[in-house]
Amino acid sequence: MKTAVEKKKLYINGEWLEAKSYTVLRSPYSGEVLAEIPAAAREDVERAIAAAYEARRIMAKMPAHERAAILEKVVSLLQERAEEAARIIALEAAKPITTAKAEVARTIQTYKFAAEEAKRIYGETLPLDAAPGGENRIALTVREPIGVVGAITPFNFPMNLVAHKLGPAIASGNTVVLKPASQTPLSAYFIAELFEQAGLPKGALNVVTGSGKTVGDQIVADPRVSMVTFTGSPEVGIGIRNKAGLKRVTLELGSNSAVIIDEQVDVDRIVPRCVTGAFSFQGQVCISLQRIYVHEKRYEEFVEKFTVAAGQLKVGDPLDPATDVSALISEKDVERSLAWIEEAKQGGAVVALGGKRQGNILLPTVILETAPTMKVSCQEVFAPIVLINKVSSIDEAIELVNDSRYGLQAGIYTDNVHVAWEAAEKLHVGGVLINDIPTFRVDHMPYGGVKESGFGREGIRYAVEEMTELKLVIFNRNR
Ligand code: NAP
Repeated sequence: MKTAVEKKKLYINGEWLEAKSYTVLRSPYSGEVLAEIPAAAREDVERAIAAAYEARRIMAKMPAHERAAILEKVVSLLQERAEEAARIIALEAAKPITTAKAEVARTIQTYKFAAEEAKRIYGETLPLDAAPGGENRIALTVREPIGVVGAITPFNFPMNLVAHKLGPAIASGNTVVLKPASQTPLSAYFIAELFEQAGLPKGALNVVTGSGKTVGDQIVADPRVSMVTFTGSPEVGIGIRNKAGLKRVTLELGSNSAVIIDEQVDVDRIVPRCVTGAFSFQGQVCISLQRIYVHEKRYEEFVEKFTVAAGQLKVGDPLDPATDVSALISEKDVERSLAWIEEAKQGGAVVALGGKRQGNILLPTVILETAPTMKVSCQEVFAPIVLINKVSSIDEAIELVNDSRYGLQAGIYTDNVHVAWEAAEKLHVGGVLINDIPTFRVDHMPYGGVKESGFGREGIRYAVEEMTELKLVIFNRNR
């Protein structure tokens, strides 16, 4: 017997509402229909923004301990339903279930950090008498909520990247209109249910699904929205920034992250970590390892060992706990990746592994002898493709890493402390990792990029700063 497909509802002003039209959500792996998703119309988005605008006074007045308690409750509800949450991510994003479980564990951490951070939004006092004319005056700063936060999120971490918006926004007393990626709306609706159960006031969180162009644009354009926090591709991010006027905007965008491997490094020790960095969630991670620069003295050995290890990855169903690599998010992305591989081949590059598809799965692919101008090198591949390049010095490698539109994170493996400091200083990125791949993030560290990788920082405390206004209060005791 066929079971009916679930019809999801918009979450606006604390109510679950039907939309006028729906789209069908399919599994990227099997094509199976997962749910019908409401396509918010203009009036739905209008209602969501109005509700968030109205609720902003209630949230701004809510004591910090109450905001923290709501976030703590979300943490405990998510802990209880962690298995279900991971299954939702695996189904809608084709994220291998083991990786999906790790995302849920991180989402729990993110909300925990947010609950803690809600209680320590501090200001400072300033001695104004440091300036002539400032005698007998004392100043203090307070951080006030910014108001309505418009949050637009991507498909690749549908639960944790939503948490990086909702966690700090609620911690600092704001309200939110959330537009999740069209391919991964189920994770967002699931989290909205948890916030509802945790006692978040009506209107403080609204979830509207629908096309990025229409729903996203409306959120960005509305004057009642004080800030837009966006994670996604540079193309969309730059468009948002151009339209946002004087709104505060934070942009967490893409990259073509790299690691450098120095001559004394123990290759056996680092190969498994590099394989994980390149192929986790099919390379669809903003800090996925895309470019590897190896000192010529270790190049042959590294290529051989890396290719063997990558060849052992298991491809298949995201719900199978043994699967390492599953389907890309869309057929279009499989075709784009294959076209980029073909372009590299035509230009003289060598495909040492993969380069083929199996359904919507692109097999783990290793490419050698690429030129920096090839798309697989200078664009963000966002697929299980990694390049291994030979360099004759670390200086040359640093130059090649920096020769990019992007600058999110970069790593270097070296036993030489002077080289490590040099690299930390010269790499033009938001985060440098010494003796690790760039594919590392824990949820309280400042995270964000330079150049086309973005603008502003996430990581709960840093996001709270972005989501609050600094107000100065001056006490004049001269009377
Ligand atoms: P995307 O295509 O840019 O979409 C991101 C979000 O923007 C989606 O919700 C999308 O809605 C929406 N959107 C699309 N067009 C819009 C418009 N004109 N105005 C407003 N919103 C619009 O990105 P994606 O493919 O989901 O995610 C992959 C990208 O995200 C990669 O570049 C990756 O590196 C980046 N990323 C960065 C970080 C970071 O922290 N730096 C983390 C994760 C991912 P629809 O889904 O409806 O189109």
